[in-house]
Amino acid sequence: MSDIIAAIATGRAPCAIGILRLSGPGCAALTGSVFTPKQPFADAPDRRLVLGLLHDRQGRVIDECLGVVCRAPHSYTGEETVELQCHGSPAMLAAGLESLLAAGARQAGPGEFTRRAFLNGKLDLTQAEAVVDLIDAETADAAANAAGQLGGALKRAIGPVYDGLTDLCSHFHAVLDYPDEDIEDFGAAELSGALDRAGAALRELLATYEKGRHLRQGVRAVLLGKPNAGKSSLLNRLAGYDRVIVTDIAGTTRDTVEEPVRVGRVLLRLTDTAGIREAGDAIEALGVARSEQAAREAELALFVCDASQPLTDEDRRAIEAAKCAPRSLALCNKSDLPAAVSPDELPFDTVLTVSARTGAGLDALPALLEGWFLGENACDGSLLTNPRQFGALDRASRAIERAKTGLCLGVTPDAVLTDVEEAMAALGEVTGRTVREDITNRIFERFCVGK
Ligand code: GDP
Repeated sequence: MSDIIAAIATGRAPCAIGILRLSGPGCAALTGSVFTPKQPFADAPDRRLVLGLLHDRQGRVIDECLGVVCRAPHSYTGEETVELQCHGSPAMLAAGLESLLAAGARQAGPGEFTRRAFLNGKLDLTQAEAVVDLIDAETADAAANAAGQLGGALKRAIGPVYDGLTDLCSHFHAVLDYPDEDIEDFGAAELSGALDRAGAALRELLATYEKGRHLRQGVRAVLLGKPNAGKSSLLNRLAGYDRVIVTDIAGTTRDTVEEPVRVGRVLLRLTDTAGIREAGDAIEALGVARSEQAAREAELALFVCDASQPLTDEDRRAIEAAKCAPRSLALCNKSDLPAAVSPDELPFDTVLTVSARTGAGLDALPALLEGWFLGENACDGSLLTNPRQFGALDRASRAIERAKTGLCLGVTPDAVLTDVEEAMAALGEVTGRTVREDITNRIFERFCVGK
């Protein structure tokens, strides 16, 4: 039987409401020793808020707050849980927690509430991982996709594939193990049809990963251009505040600066680089080398030029660097000044004429980037976003392909089924059905305390 864990579930800054959370059999009675509503808290009605006084270790009243008991199995963890909704003073919450610990609770570790929910079958591993993704979501789309996965979208997508493979294996073992029973033997067509269906479903899921990765992690993007082209001004304009110092002295941005920037529904992890130019001194030379490296590592390069000046060799070097990235576009900046560069001079399929100073022309960017990186996908949990899940599903898909090849080559069905069982093991890792404990430990370490 599990012990009683307790934690502060809310942030460390003063705020309107702060929550103390407990889970484990008997946690309502334990809480009742420090939280005193009119009726004993142990007898409080299920899932109904009651008002009471919270006491510190010395017995002093430290808050008037609301408490709620959710009795097993109808709770987040599947065990008896308690939440105390207090005023959001970090000092008071710390004193309240101390009081609960003194009464016999144990400080919860990171993700321990969700781990209990997983162990008690309230969530599968894809849903547990969605909890972290929901907390970490940096855009509304990322949150919506995580919410869909918390609701079981991946579990529902993977379940039928797993069940189909289970049927295949169990039927096959029945044929092998009970040769005297009159069990219909497998035809190669039946086996190959089942493998085709499983393979297609997995490929469809795996194909969503690139967009899902952009949704969850953002797109690595880099601003490239000669000094004074307006890169820092553009980053500030897109970020919506002055993240980088802007001066008209060339070389002010000496190192790379990274900033998450939302452009429409797309999250860019935007790096502003030291301008690419003939290096004037050792520090700047380092900055230039980093710019070129940033371009090679980026998924999107935004080449920026000062279109009020004719193009120079420095611009051409920046164009070369930008072309190293898988996707690139040109921003002809300073459109508020008379133009000296025409968009057709720039060797990019996409050229936007913009002004970082006035914001003109930048409204075309969201639709463009959404089309490139997110597409029309509904963010309902159907996008695979998690590298661990991708890795395991990829292994499952490869095992299915091996099984199909084996079947074509006339390998005996029992050898084919070894691959099928490997695919099932990999699928089980995704949902947590067959996952190793060290892997689950690593997953729950990513959680915050109190979740
Ligand atoms: P960086 O070196 O490429 O990062 O360029 P900065 O962003 O530091 O800008 C260099 C200079 O150009 C600063 O004086 C900016 O105020 C100016 N600047 C940047 N964007 C524009 C623009 O769209 N129009 C005009 N007129 N000036 C701009």
